[in-house]
Amino acid sequence: MAMARSENNPDRLAERLERAESRNQAKAADLLGQLQLAPADQGPSGLGIMGGTFDPVHYGHLVAANTACWEYNLVGVVFVPSGRPPHKRGKVITEQEHRYRMALLATCDNSQFFVSRLEMDRPGYSYAIDTVKNFAAVLGPRQPLYFITGADAVIEILAWKNINEFFTYCSFIAVTRPGFDLGGITVEPQLNPIYLDNIECLEIPALAISSTDIRQRIAQGRPVRYLLPDAVHDYIANSQVYAPAGTAASEAGFEY
Ligand code: ATP
Ligand code: MG
Repeated sequence: MAMARSENNPDRLAERLERAESRNQAKAADLLGQLQLAPADQGPSGLGIMGGTFDPVHYGHLVAANTACWEYNLVGVVFVPSGRPPHKRGKVITEQEHRYRMALLATCDNSQFFVSRLEMDRPGYSYAIDTVKNFAAVLGPRQPLYFITGADAVIEILAWKNINEFFTYCSFIAVTRPGFDLGGITVEPQLNPIYLDNIECLEIPALAISSTDIRQRIAQGRPVRYLLPDAVHDYIANSQVYAPAGTAASEAGFEY
Protein backbone atom coordinates (compact mmCIF):
# COMPACT_ATOMS: atom_id res chain seq x y z
CA MET A 1 0.00 0.00 0.00
CA ALA A 2 1.32 3.43 -0.92
CA MET A 3 2.46 5.59 1.99
CA ALA A 4 0.81 8.97 2.44
CA ARG A 5 2.95 11.44 0.54
CA SER A 6 3.47 15.14 0.83
CA GLU A 7 1.46 17.48 -1.36
CA ASN A 8 3.29 17.93 -4.62
CA ASN A 9 0.60 19.12 -7.00
CA PRO A 10 1.73 22.63 -8.07
CA ASP A 11 -1.87 23.79 -8.55
CA ARG A 12 -2.83 22.67 -5.04
CA LEU A 13 0.27 24.33 -3.61
CA ALA A 14 -0.49 27.58 -5.44
CA GLU A 15 -4.04 27.45 -4.08
CA ARG A 16 -2.74 26.80 -0.58
CA LEU A 17 -0.47 29.84 -0.86
CA GLU A 18 -3.22 32.05 -2.18
CA ARG A 19 -5.43 31.00 0.72
CA ALA A 20 -2.63 31.64 3.19
CA GLU A 21 -2.03 35.12 1.75
CA SER A 22 -5.68 36.16 1.94
CA ARG A 23 -6.07 34.65 5.41
CA ASN A 24 -2.95 36.53 6.49
CA GLN A 25 -4.43 39.84 5.34
CA ALA A 26 -7.64 39.13 7.21
CA LYS A 27 -5.81 38.14 10.41
CA ALA A 28 -3.53 41.20 10.24
CA ALA A 29 -6.52 43.52 9.88
CA ASP A 30 -8.38 41.78 12.69
CA LEU A 31 -5.48 41.71 15.17
CA LEU A 32 -4.32 45.26 14.43
CA GLY A 33 -7.95 46.38 14.75
CA GLN A 34 -8.21 44.74 18.20
CA LEU A 35 -4.90 46.32 19.19
CA GLN A 36 -6.05 49.79 18.23
CA LEU A 37 -8.80 49.61 20.86
CA ALA A 38 -7.97 50.13 24.51
CA PRO A 39 -7.18 46.79 26.16
CA ALA A 40 -9.93 45.38 28.37
CA ASP A 41 -9.08 44.64 32.02
CA GLN A 42 -7.67 41.13 32.30
CA GLY A 43 -8.08 40.64 28.55
CA PRO A 44 -5.22 40.05 26.17
CA SER A 45 -3.07 43.08 25.40
CA GLY A 46 0.05 43.89 23.48
CA LEU A 47 1.75 42.63 20.38
CA GLY A 48 4.73 40.30 20.12
CA ILE A 49 7.18 41.01 17.31
CA MET A 50 9.15 38.03 16.10
CA GLY A 51 11.93 39.13 13.78
CA GLY A 52 14.17 36.74 11.92
CA THR A 53 15.54 35.61 8.62
CA PHE A 54 13.24 32.56 8.66
CA ASP A 55 15.41 30.81 6.11
CA PRO A 56 13.38 28.61 6.56
CA VAL A 57 10.87 29.13 9.38
CA HIS A 58 10.78 26.09 11.72
CA TYR A 59 9.15 24.78 14.91
CA GLY A 60 11.71 26.59 17.10
CA HIS A 61 10.30 29.93 15.87
CA LEU A 62 6.69 28.81 16.22
CA VAL A 63 7.08 27.42 19.73
CA ALA A 64 8.91 30.60 20.83
CA ALA A 65 6.13 32.82 19.46
CA ASN A 66 3.31 30.66 20.78
CA THR A 67 4.76 30.28 24.27
CA ALA A 68 5.38 34.03 24.54
CA CYS A 69 1.89 34.77 23.24
CA TRP A 70 0.27 32.54 25.85
CA GLU A 71 2.51 33.41 28.80
CA TYR A 72 2.14 37.17 28.31
CA ASN A 73 -1.51 37.04 27.24
CA LEU A 74 -0.73 38.89 24.02
CA VAL A 75 -3.32 39.74 21.39
CA GLY A 76 -1.04 38.24 18.78
CA VAL A 77 2.43 37.89 17.32
CA VAL A 78 3.64 39.36 14.06
CA PHE A 79 6.40 37.54 12.20
CA VAL A 80 8.63 39.99 10.36
CA PRO A 81 10.97 38.33 7.86
CA SER A 82 13.98 40.58 7.41
CA GLY A 83 14.75 41.92 3.96
CA ARG A 84 18.48 42.57 4.14
CA PRO A 85 19.70 41.77 7.66
CA PRO A 86 22.85 43.81 8.41
CA HIS A 87 24.26 41.08 10.67
CA LYS A 88 24.12 38.57 7.81
CA ARG A 89 26.00 40.88 5.40
CA GLY A 90 28.20 38.86 3.08
CA LYS A 91 26.25 35.63 3.72
CA VAL A 92 23.96 34.14 1.13
CA ILE A 93 20.35 34.28 2.21
CA THR A 94 17.35 32.97 0.34
CA GLU A 95 15.32 35.32 -1.79
CA GLN A 96 12.84 37.13 0.45
CA GLU A 97 9.64 36.07 -1.34
CA HIS A 98 10.44 32.42 -0.62
CA ARG A 99 11.09 33.19 3.05
CA TYR A 100 7.88 35.22 3.23
CA ARG A 101 5.77 32.49 1.62
CA MET A 102 7.15 29.85 3.97
CA ALA A 103 6.30 32.09 6.95
CA LEU A 104 2.76 32.55 5.56
CA LEU A 105 2.26 28.80 5.24
CA ALA A 106 3.69 28.13 8.70
CA THR A 107 1.42 30.64 10.46
CA CYS A 108 -1.72 30.22 8.36
CA ASP A 109 -3.70 28.10 10.79
CA ASN A 110 -3.03 30.26 13.85
CA SER A 111 -5.49 33.14 14.22
CA GLN A 112 -3.07 34.96 16.58
CA PHE A 113 -0.13 34.94 14.16
CA PHE A 114 0.36 37.03 11.06
CA VAL A 115 3.28 37.90 8.79
CA SER A 116 4.35 41.41 7.86
CA ARG A 117 6.18 42.49 4.70
CA LEU A 118 7.39 45.64 6.45
CA GLU A 119 11.13 44.89 6.46
CA MET A 120 11.06 43.23 3.06
CA ASP A 121 9.46 46.22 1.39
CA ARG A 122 11.66 48.79 3.11
CA PRO A 123 14.71 49.76 1.04
CA GLY A 124 18.20 49.31 2.49
CA TYR A 125 19.25 47.17 5.42
CA SER A 126 16.55 45.93 7.81
CA TYR A 127 16.87 47.44 11.26
CA ALA A 128 14.61 46.12 14.01
CA ILE A 129 14.37 49.56 15.59
CA ASP A 130 12.54 50.85 12.49
CA THR A 131 10.12 47.94 12.71
CA VAL A 132 9.38 48.51 16.37
CA LYS A 133 8.90 52.25 15.76
CA ASN A 134 6.48 51.47 12.97
CA PHE A 135 4.27 49.23 15.14
CA ALA A 136 4.47 51.72 18.00
CA ALA A 137 3.18 54.42 15.65
CA VAL A 138 0.40 52.20 14.29
CA LEU A 139 -0.79 51.05 17.71
CA GLY A 140 -0.21 54.12 19.85
CA PRO A 141 0.89 54.08 23.48
CA ARG A 142 -1.95 51.98 24.91
CA GLN A 143 -0.62 48.63 23.83
CA PRO A 144 2.72 47.25 24.97
CA LEU A 145 5.14 45.86 22.40
CA TYR A 146 7.36 42.87 23.07
CA PHE A 147 10.28 41.96 20.89
CA ILE A 148 10.61 38.16 21.05
CA THR A 149 14.07 36.70 20.49
CA GLY A 150 16.04 33.58 21.19
CA ALA A 151 18.89 33.62 23.70
CA ASP A 152 21.50 33.96 20.91
CA ALA A 153 19.83 36.98 19.36
CA VAL A 154 19.17 38.87 22.59
CA ILE A 155 22.85 38.69 23.48
CA GLU A 156 23.72 40.28 20.11
CA ILE A 157 20.95 42.87 20.33
CA LEU A 158 21.96 44.11 23.76
CA ALA A 159 25.30 45.13 22.25
CA TRP A 160 23.64 47.44 19.69
CA LYS A 161 24.54 51.10 19.69
CA ASN A 162 20.92 52.29 19.86
CA ILE A 163 19.78 49.74 22.41
CA ASN A 164 18.46 52.35 24.89
CA GLU A 165 16.24 53.89 22.21
CA PHE A 166 14.90 50.40 21.46
CA PHE A 167 13.72 50.04 25.04
CA THR A 168 11.70 53.23 24.82
CA TYR A 169 9.42 51.41 22.38
CA CYS A 170 9.33 47.81 23.59
CA SER A 171 10.36 45.19 26.12
CA PHE A 172 12.21 41.98 25.33
CA ILE A 173 11.06 38.44 25.80
CA ALA A 174 14.26 36.39 25.62
CA VAL A 175 13.40 32.73 25.16
CA THR A 176 15.69 29.85 26.01
CA ARG A 177 17.44 28.14 23.13
CA PRO A 178 19.56 24.99 23.38
CA GLY A 179 23.25 25.84 23.15
CA PHE A 180 22.87 29.44 24.36
CA ASP A 181 22.95 30.41 28.00
CA LEU A 182 20.51 33.13 29.01
CA GLY A 183 22.23 33.33 32.37
CA GLY A 184 25.23 34.60 30.45
CA ILE A 185 23.53 37.85 29.39
CA THR A 186 26.11 40.47 30.12
CA VAL A 187 25.13 44.02 30.85
CA GLU A 188 26.74 46.09 28.15
CA PRO A 189 28.18 49.38 29.43
CA GLN A 190 25.98 51.40 27.08
CA LEU A 191 22.77 49.80 28.41
CA ASN A 192 20.98 52.05 30.86
CA PRO A 193 20.32 49.83 33.94
CA ILE A 194 16.75 51.16 34.23
CA TYR A 195 15.92 48.95 31.23
CA LEU A 196 17.10 45.71 32.83
CA ASP A 197 13.58 45.12 34.14
CA ASN A 198 12.33 45.25 30.57
CA ILE A 199 14.11 42.02 29.66
CA GLU A 200 11.95 39.04 30.51
CA CYS A 201 13.50 35.58 30.30
CA LEU A 202 11.10 32.86 29.26
CA GLU A 203 11.78 29.17 29.37
CA ILE A 204 10.27 27.35 26.40
CA PRO A 205 10.34 23.65 25.45
CA ALA A 206 13.85 23.03 24.13
CA LEU A 207 14.04 22.49 20.41
CA ALA A 208 17.57 22.19 19.05
CA ILE A 209 16.43 23.23 15.59
CA SER A 210 18.07 25.94 13.48
CA SER A 211 17.56 27.12 9.93
CA THR A 212 21.29 26.67 9.27
CA ASP A 213 21.06 23.02 10.29
CA ILE A 214 17.93 22.51 8.16
CA ARG A 215 19.68 23.99 5.10
CA GLN A 216 22.71 21.78 5.71
CA ARG A 217 20.57 18.69 6.06
CA ILE A 218 18.82 19.44 2.79
CA ALA A 219 22.16 20.03 1.04
CA GLN A 220 23.28 16.62 2.30
CA GLY A 221 20.05 14.91 1.22
CA ARG A 222 19.06 14.18 4.83
CA PRO A 223 15.44 14.44 6.09
CA VAL A 224 14.03 17.62 7.63
CA ARG A 225 10.45 16.51 7.98
CA TYR A 226 9.02 17.15 11.48
CA LEU A 227 11.52 19.97 12.08
CA LEU A 228 9.12 22.38 10.36
CA PRO A 229 5.42 22.37 9.40
CA ASP A 230 4.42 19.99 6.61
CA ALA A 231 3.18 22.89 4.48
CA VAL A 232 6.66 24.45 4.61
CA HIS A 233 8.23 21.08 3.90
CA ASP A 234 6.02 20.69 0.83
CA TYR A 235 6.87 24.20 -0.35
CA ILE A 236 10.60 23.50 -0.05
CA ALA A 237 10.27 20.22 -1.86
CA ASN A 238 8.16 21.66 -4.62
CA SER A 239 10.02 24.90 -5.24
CA GLN A 240 13.42 23.28 -4.69
CA VAL A 241 14.31 26.40 -2.82
CA TYR A 242 17.15 24.65 -1.02
CA ALA A 243 17.70 21.70 -3.32
CA PRO A 244 21.38 20.99 -3.86
CA ALA A 245 22.49 22.12 -7.33
CA GLY A 246 22.13 19.46 -9.99
CA THR A 247 19.52 17.35 -8.18
CA ALA A 248 16.02 16.63 -9.37
CA ALA A 249 14.63 16.81 -5.86
CA SER A 250 11.12 17.86 -6.78
CA GLU A 251 10.73 14.85 -9.07
CA ALA A 252 12.44 12.51 -6.67
CA GLY A 253 9.97 13.20 -3.84
CA PHE A 254 10.10 14.98 -0.57
CA GLU A 255 12.31 13.06 1.73
CA TYR A 256 15.05 15.64 2.03
P1 ATP B 1 19.98 30.73 11.22
O1 ATP B 1 20.60 29.43 11.62
O2 ATP B 1 19.87 30.95 9.74
O3 ATP B 1 20.52 31.93 11.98
P2 ATP B 1 17.79 30.49 13.11
O4 ATP B 1 17.26 29.11 13.32
O5 ATP B 1 18.69 31.07 14.15
O6 ATP B 1 18.42 30.59 11.65
P3 ATP B 1 16.54 33.04 12.77
O7 ATP B 1 15.63 33.39 11.65
O8 ATP B 1 17.94 33.54 12.77
O9 ATP B 1 16.54 31.42 12.88
O10 ATP B 1 15.88 33.35 14.19
C1 ATP B 1 14.83 34.25 14.43
C2 ATP B 1 14.62 34.32 15.94
O11 ATP B 1 14.17 33.04 16.44
C3 ATP B 1 15.91 34.63 16.71
O12 ATP B 1 15.57 35.49 17.79
C4 ATP B 1 16.34 33.27 17.21
O13 ATP B 1 17.12 33.37 18.40
C5 ATP B 1 15.01 32.59 17.49
N1 ATP B 1 15.12 31.13 17.39
C6 ATP B 1 15.42 30.43 16.28
N2 ATP B 1 15.42 29.10 16.53
C7 ATP B 1 15.09 28.96 17.83
C8 ATP B 1 14.94 27.81 18.69
N3 ATP B 1 15.14 26.58 18.24
N4 ATP B 1 14.60 28.03 19.98
C9 ATP B 1 14.42 29.30 20.43
N5 ATP B 1 14.55 30.42 19.68
C10 ATP B 1 14.89 30.27 18.39
MG1 MG C 1 19.77 32.86 13.75
